[in-house]
Parts: sequence; structure tokens; C-alpha cells
Amino acid sequence: MLRAFAFLCTLILLLPAVAEYAPANAKWNQPVPPFRIADNLYYVGAEGVASYLIITPAGDILIDTGFRETVPLVEASIRKLGFRVSEVRILLISHGHFDHAGGVAAMKAATHARLLVSPAEAPMLEHGDKDDFAWGDKYAYPPVKPDGLLKDGQPVTLGGVALTPHFTPGHTKGCTTWTMTVHDRGQLRHVVFACSLSTPDYQVVNNPKYPNMQNDLAASFATMRALPCDIFLAAHPWEFELDRKRAALAADPNAGQNPFVDPAGYRAYIDRSEAALQERVAQQTKAARGGS
Ligand SMILES: [Zn+2]
Repeated sequence: MLRAFAFLCTLILLLPAVAEYAPANAKWNQPVPPFRIADNLYYVGAEGVASYLIITPAGDILIDTGFRETVPLVEASIRKLGFRVSEVRILLISHGHFDHAGGVAAMKAATHARLLVSPAEAPMLEHGDKDDFAWGDKYAYPPVKPDGLLKDGQPVTLGGVALTPHFTPGHTKGCTTWTMTVHDRGQLRHVVFACSLSTPDYQVVNNPKYPNMQNDLAASFATMRALPCDIFLAAHPWEFELDRKRAALAADPNAGQNPFVDPAGYRAYIDRSEAALQERVAQQTKAARGGS
């Protein structure tokens, strides 16, 4: 009885500590079948939030965990592919928002993998994105301490596989775009895992909590444009038409070219993001001048 009461108290204490994902995002957390994108690279994410598994002979690498609530789906996807969750040795993230890193603490506990993040993103993880420059505590999640800090352009290596971080700040201060190469249908392919470039509801112009946002984004567009890209992937499936490409891959697994090879889609993603930013800046500049 006493134990049950103590358990209840613990539950009550724990419940308000972490926010549930917003109801509007619930659809993003629906399970979808995992699949191989190319070579040793697999999709293990949910419908609206991506997670990627990279298999190496020395253990595996996971990029993004989705929401806190996505972790069981990612684990089930890893198992469904015939791999082991316990084989994940390195955890990486695109960025520290709740829909990509909310599950990192749980995934780290399940795998004991090393969490490596960019220096600018580390405080976000350590605070569970409390006091976010755009959203305050609204999307806080269980905090987690990184095991190491990345250096821009210095690859993370495991079992002969190299993943290179490119710092592309703006969406968050430590947003990280990852690149690697895979062998696909007899060719070496450059893979880009693009970090988000959007500025949803952000005060971009004269933001006292992130004064350098515009300059950071301008630099990030340039960084991304300079990256060679064959296989284009991103943090949200709709940003790179995952559904269409997955269906095409399933319909013709031996087609001459992998449907995920999409350099034009990658350029279009950057162009689209830059146009959206320019529009937001123009609106906010106009509003700051009193609409004149
Ligand atoms: Zn985000």
C-alpha cells in the first residue's frame, strides 16, 4: 500500500516535468515500416520525424530519435530490420528540438551510446530545451548530457564509416548537417542529411535572444550549397518527399537509379528555405517600421 502510494507520488512528480508532444504533432509520431535507403543506411523514423540507422562492423550509428514518444517506434524499427538496439554505439542529432532530440535521453539509457553534439547545441540538450530562444519552455524534454563535442568538418568515425558534421546554424544555434558516402548500384554516392533551415514563428529580425540569426542562416545556405549531394535526406520526411521515393523504391528495387538520388530536390530545398526566410525578414522589417 505504502509502495503503491510512493509510486503514485513519483508519477505525479514526474508527469509535469516533461511536456507531451503537441497534439498537432501526434500524426508525426505514427509508425511507418523501416527500410533500407542504400547500402548500410536505413530509415527507422516515424511518419513525420526522421531517424537514420547506419550499420558498421564495429556497431551502429543513429541520427535523431524523434520525440520522447518516438523512441519505442525507432527501437521496434531497428529490431524489425534484424538489428539490435544495443548495437547502437554513437548517437547524433540534426538539432536539439523536441521532435528530433526529445528521445535522446531514453535512447542513450537504452543503448549506452556516446552522444556527440555541436558545441552550440550542447546547452540545449543539457537543459532539455528549456528557455528556447523561440518557444521558452513550451517544448522542453528530458535533459541529457552529451559525451563529446563535434568539430565542424571533422568526421565521426566508426567501423570504417565516416560521418562529417557541417555546422549550419539558424534554425537552432547548433543545427548540424551530416554527410557520408555510400555505395549504391555500383556508384559512390554523397549523402546529405540536411538540418532544418526553417524559421517557424521566429522573430528573425533583431531577436535579442539570437541577434546573429540572419547572418547564421546566410552562412548556412552557403555551406549547404557547397556540399556535394546525390542522396538527399532531412529531419522531416516531407522535406525530401520520402513517401514518394519509398514507394518508387519498393515498386522497382532494381531500377537503374535509386529514387533517393535527388540533387535537384536538395537544391530546391535550400532555395525554398532561403525564399521563405527572405519573405519573413521583409514582413518583420516592414512591421518594425510601422507597416509603412
Ligand atoms: Zn526544429
